Amino acid sequence: MRAMVLAKQGEPLKQMNVNVPVPAAGQVLIKVKACGVCRTDLHIIDSELKEPKLPLIIGHEIIGEVASLGENVTKFKIGERVGVPWLGYTCGKCKFCLSGKENLCDNAKFTGYTIDGGYAEYTVADERYCFRIKGNYSDEHAAPLLCAGLIGYRSYRLCGDKFRRLGIYGFGAAAHIIAQIAMHDGKEVYAFTKDGDSEGQAFAKELGAVWAGGSNDMPPEKLDASIIFAPVGALIPAALKATEKGGIVVCGGIHMSNIPEFEYNILWEERTVISVANLTREDGDGLLEAAPKVPVKTIVQVYKLERANEALKDLRAGKVHGAAVLKID
Ligand SMILES: [Zn+2]
Ligand SMILES: [Zn+2]
Repeated sequence: MRAMVLAKQGEPLKQMNVNVPVPAAGQVLIKVKACGVCRTDLHIIDSELKEPKLPLIIGHEIIGEVASLGENVTKFKIGERVGVPWLGYTCGKCKFCLSGKENLCDNAKFTGYTIDGGYAEYTVADERYCFRIKGNYSDEHAAPLLCAGLIGYRSYRLCGDKFRRLGIYGFGAAAHIIAQIAMHDGKEVYAFTKDGDSEGQAFAKELGAVWAGGSNDMPPEKLDASIIFAPVGALIPAALKATEKGGIVVCGGIHMSNIPEFEYNILWEERTVISVANLTREDGDGLLEAAPKVPVKTIVQVYKLERANEALKDLRAGKVHGAAVLKID
């Protein structure tokens, strides 16, 4: 099969022909139809995430069709449409798994990082971590739900439910999905982009944000909650300054640059800063149930599998409108 392979961190992906994987017990073989391109993929390539399987097929926002079944597969049938997220395996035995926090599992495996992912014609996945995809989403429009959507949704849920004004820092793939859910829930969305990114600000307003500005601008009203999707540590003090007493700042990324020193004053008055790590299957069920009801519309920029390096380059340069997705035919 054709695959885009990361042979060594720091290098571009290489187009290669590799063997189609064979599903082990409990796994399904999936014919990949679309795979989202996520900022985490850049963190892996750039060595900001340090322990990838190598060589590695990256990609953890996979939509495909079940092509064959390993032994003891019961959840899916051949021909069914499935989604594969970042969380690929948990042990079910550690203290985190046993307390409903499988996202923090000590022995977790991650799709497109510690196990092969979806930048390829086929992949295998443990059926227990795969989702059914509802709604009228095409494969490429469904793909961004699997990470941008799921991690965004977990970040959003950590904001609590009794708030009105939600700030979103970094208005890319995750933000454009979560903004639609938040507005559907009656929240006011305040969008923060790179300073001077008038295109990004216009995009946020088109989606219904009540206000859009640069990341160091002060919103007209203090925020009750904010989510930071951009991997920039300096946004934590910036968001705290814009946050109301008792408010929360949720960091949605897997990696962030260092946080500059800041005055205790902006954290005081019971403001909270929290990070999000990975996802639970419950987050996945929640988002995939909620998205078609809104209905969330994903905006995608589609690339062929062979052009994965170009998609990654555009994502790095902030040139992706909505979410970048590889289409595999
Ligand atoms: Zn565990
Ligand atoms: Zn991701």
